[in-house]
Amino acid sequence: MKPFPVILSAPSGAGKTTIARRLLERRRDLGYSVSCTTRARRTGETDGQDYHFLSREQFEVERDAGAFAEWAEVHGAYYGTLRREVERVLASGRLCLMDIDVQGARQFAEAFPDTVLVFILPPSGEVLLQRLTGRGSEDTERLLVRMRNAKAEIGDVGRYHYVVVNDDLDRAVERVASILDAESVRHERVHALDEQVGALIAQLEREINGIQQGG
Ligand code: ADP
Ligand code: 5GP
Repeated sequence: MKPFPVILSAPSGAGKTTIARRLLERRRDLGYSVSCTTRARRTGETDGQDYHFLSREQFEVERDAGAFAEWAEVHGAYYGTLRREVERVLASGRLCLMDIDVQGARQFAEAFPDTVLVFILPPSGEVLLQRLTGRGSEDTERLLVRMRNAKAEIGDVGRYHYVVVNDDLDRAVERVASILDAESVRHERVHALDEQVGALIAQLEREINGIQQGG
């Protein structure tokens, strides 16, 4: 199978990080592209694992050097996907899972047209607020920015290939896993399909000849 990039987008708090973590724990065919951000590190986050945490100046140096496959300003901070991260994961033969906002997803999919775009929706506005509040990572002002941005982000859902409602976590993870399985066997991604089909046709011809000679 030819490995491909997979983008999960969602309004903040819908659960894409949680879904991505679950998938990465259980699937060996998946790798994660660690993004760069200028936002502050949250409790429990590790530099180099959850994000590469950069100052705005450091980010701008990387950006101006062309290091990003896409970048965007989201909720007042810079976020960007490093080309070298994507190349590292794909070169290892794994699908490259990414958590990218709607602006970045559009840029990335233009540069990598075989990208699979998955939008994660919260089951309701009330649940989204509960999850954001429950995570405890944002003060009221930042929470409001994220809730307001959610309205615009959800309006972009029509540009995605798949939509998964994250109501029950296990079910949502299962749905994304099914998408990855189905996308992996698209005919254009099957390794050496022409050779496989050619070999099968040759085998069928031998079988047919065998029947004719025996009959
Ligand atoms: P995002 O990455 O989209 O901003 P997170 O993955 O950080 O969202 O999830 C936000 C909060 O909601 C976290 O505290 C997470 O544990 C919780 N959460 C995620 N999915 C579910 C779910 N299906 N049911 C209940 N809580 C969830
Ligand atoms: P958070 O700060 O909650 O981790 O992420 C905030 C937003 O930034 C989310 O919409 C998330 O998808 C987006 N994001 C995370 N990494 C990247 C990235 O590399 N590029 C872009 N464009 N957005 C990102």
